Amino acid sequence: MRRIITTLFSFFVFISCGRSFTSKERDVIFQGGGDVMQVMSIANRSDSLLLRSRCLPVTEQMVKTNEFSELRRRMLATVQSPEHDGVGIAAPQVGILRQIVAVQRFDKDGAPFEFFINPKIKTCMGAKQLGGEGCLSVPNRRGEVERFQKIVLQYRDAEFTPHLDTIEGFTAVIFQHEIDHLRGVLYIDKEQN
Ligand code: ZN
Repeated sequence: MRRIITTLFSFFVFISCGRSFTSKERDVIFQGGGDVMQVMSIANRSDSLLLRSRCLPVTEQMVKTNEFSELRRRMLATVQSPEHDGVGIAAPQVGILRQIVAVQRFDKDGAPFEFFINPKIKTCMGAKQLGGEGCLSVPNRRGEVERFQKIVLQYRDAEFTPHLDTIEGFTAVIFQHEIDHLRGVLYIDKEQN
């Protein structure tokens, strides 16, 4: 009986850890308490190991938490801060190994920043084109990378509603860069010399 209870308890702990933010993630999300989060840099060894890791999916339970709201608020503040002034950011860049990106939608009026959960590129279309890229995690550098100009993106929004969206041009390039981050790939891996 005791063994069964222990097994059930372990199973419950395993399930609950997998469905919600861990205490370590919570610490990172609330660290410092301000708006702008610390951005991981490849110049730092432990940051670099984190940036090269694969991210876990976000669960429906997670998007209802304070941790998620705070992460969303702070990631958007970080990418738009004058010191970073980016066009996109992925959660591993702020130390959270979850499948979340924020992207500036240059394909929409006013170019708003939007937040995407569990994003996946379902289809890439047309020829690749060479374009300039930089990254908040690769300081003082820019490079040329070939990217598709049209993609079909699958994702969930902040309410966990699923969507399928066709995206073109520079915004499609940003998505490819940010979604690469979720599997530990950086633009410098794809750079054309
Ligand atoms: Zn990047």
